[in-house]
Amino acid sequence: DARDPAPLEVRAVTVRFAGLTALSEVSFTVAPGSVHAVIGPNGAGKSTCFNVLSGVYRATSGSVRFGGAELTALPPHRIAALGVARTFQNIALSAHQPVIDNLMLGRHRLTRAGFVSSGLRLPSARREWARHRARAAEIAGFAGLGDHLDTPVGLLPYGVRKRVELARALCMEPRLLLLDEPVAGMNGEERTEMAALIGAVRRGLGISVLLVEHDMGMVMRLADRITVLDFGRRIADGTPGQVQDDPEVVRAYLGT
Ligand code: ADP
Ligand code: MG
Repeated sequence: DARDPAPLEVRAVTVRFAGLTALSEVSFTVAPGSVHAVIGPNGAGKSTCFNVLSGVYRATSGSVRFGGAELTALPPHRIAALGVARTFQNIALSAHQPVIDNLMLGRHRLTRAGFVSSGLRLPSARREWARHRARAAEIAGFAGLGDHLDTPVGLLPYGVRKRVELARALCMEPRLLLLDEPVAGMNGEERTEMAALIGAVRRGLGISVLLVEHDMGMVMRLADRITVLDFGRRIADGTPGQVQDDPEVVRAYLGT
């Protein structure tokens, strides 16, 4: 089944930009149904890693596999079709449109051709639309957006908009969700809500989560396993307890 959980295997991935090695032979495995975090100081290579996994950048060498599939050279839409969804920046949300319409965009890849082009004139197209809308509303409820379905996204507070982004990614019915700094710019209360939602995605929906985060404290509470990068190299990989006490990690964060 395409929906079965699958491991994400990152093997010796190197990314070079002109004169700069942003990632150097980085390897880690995201176990099915787990929350895995990639952390590290600014410039460590976290976003580069995220962009390789989602197909935005191409690795100079190494491989990325998900289940049986080789993702290494695939474009973003093919990776998404294999069940690896990512959030996009706010700009990708349509600020003037209500939450539910933004979520319906997330279901687009699941719809058959004709869903839109038939203009909903056919009863079968209307039924399919209603089915997708019901599922999008259900996911909105799961993400704590049930009261905001008809609110234009641009009118919502920042922390709620970030949950809309996450809900839209969930609307793709992914097996693995990639989140790049999901709590960046949030206040304490918004961070707590987002952390709870990410935990619920894993526990309640059985979706694996790969979290790229700057905030070490936040992922310590949330992640089953953590990979630590510094200057493009993997300096630690383990459970939160193992990583926390690692002298190399302490040094990287304290800069001594
Ligand atoms: P992080 O997300 O951990 O802060 P990045 O992955 O954004 O780190 O950056 C890692 C290194 O790669 C940095 O030195 C950054 O300047 C460089 N870098 C990232 N993207 C590019 C790019 N498109 N072109 C050139 N250098 C880049
Ligand atoms: Mg970054």
